[in-house]
Amino acid sequence: QTTQSVALILGVTGIVGNSLADILPLSDTPGGPWKVYGVARRLRPPWAADNPIHYIQCDISDAADADAKLSPLTDITHIFYVTWANRSTEIENCEVNGAMLRHTLAAVVPNAPNLRHICLQTGLKHYTGPFEAIGNIQSHDPPFTEDLPRLDYPNFYSTLEDILFDETGKKPGLNWSVHRPGMIFGFSPTSLMNIICTLCVYASICKRENTPLKFTGTKSSWNGFSVGSDADLIAEQHIWSAVDPNAKNEAFNCSNGDVFKWKHLWRVLAERFGLEYEEFDEGEAVVSLAERMKDKGPVWGEIVRENGLVETKLEEVGVWWFADVMLGLEGGLVDSMNKSKEHGFLGFRDSKKSFGHWIDKVKAHKIVP
Ligand code: NDP
Repeated sequence: QTTQSVALILGVTGIVGNSLADILPLSDTPGGPWKVYGVARRLRPPWAADNPIHYIQCDISDAADADAKLSPLTDITHIFYVTWANRSTEIENCEVNGAMLRHTLAAVVPNAPNLRHICLQTGLKHYTGPFEAIGNIQSHDPPFTEDLPRLDYPNFYSTLEDILFDETGKKPGLNWSVHRPGMIFGFSPTSLMNIICTLCVYASICKRENTPLKFTGTKSSWNGFSVGSDADLIAEQHIWSAVDPNAKNEAFNCSNGDVFKWKHLWRVLAERFGLEYEEFDEGEAVVSLAERMKDKGPVWGEIVRENGLVETKLEEVGVWWFADVMLGLEGGLVDSMNKSKEHGFLGFRDSKKSFGHWIDKVKAHKIVP
């Protein structure tokens, strides 16, 4: 079979990388048939073994490794950059993440003569500032639109954009797009930030220990409007921008196109795990998930063994700090999908169904019982 497009996914086992690896090889995917290379550092995990992609183990923070593994891939036409590294300060994030993207582009751009598009995934922290800044600086006023200027605070998203603009500017015919999802609903047990997997693990531990499924966030996030971004929807937007001329050299928000309330999703979570639905109790002091789950490694080990689950480490599948931030956000940090629609991307998801769909997938892959 001759291929029309050749994708390189950086971060193929991540929360959106995994969706891209599912969708790109399908026979009806726009721009196809696609040949797909996928990069991550670890051995190919069992839950990502089924896709017909070329899996490449490579550490792109290491310039020599990136060069050795990526420069021979001379047929690449499209890059999907869906990876990142998390360091303790945003200044370090700028350095480390900048280096990862630079090493990738240095290995690919000069050696892939047919390269025509680079999709870069960043996120809504473009409008709020990075985690360390949330609550400490004035974020933009929601709903967030793509034309809002950068905030005056270090942000590795800006570092990545600048590298992207600089590199694509040097090569005529090489285009870019930037994708800004919010909290992602998707599947990847090794993602650095996976709200679905984390809440599934929390619910499994509550079930096992016969403790109530407490909502550990704030009253305003329980009752207020939040937005989510379905990982398959984000992958669809990446692919649309890679092949549609209307999407070239633009940044796009990417959320489901509706709003939800945590109190409604909490019911879905409780039902999926056979737990009682617990109303948020304002009178009760909130104990964070990080605190509640800090000694649960042994219990998780037992749950895995007794249910014949895929071996995982609790600290990887349960990203407590991230869930604490997400459930603790003030409601109303919503974005606008108007620009995306005006440019021709009409995709959407029902957030409640999306939430349930990804819980089912985490269960089907035997990550949780
Ligand atoms: P994930 O953490 O889900 O996945 C990262 C992927 O990159 C994995 O496949 C990982 O595999 C791989 N990887 C990590 N480091 C390296 C490296 N040095 N060399 C090669 N591969 C590497 O990523 P996300 O999709 O969450 O993040 C992508 C972007 O999306 C980030 O900018 C993030 O801020 C943003 N975003 C994420 C949200 C979320 O909810 N997850 C929400 C909004 C924005 P391995 O570890 O095996 O190398």
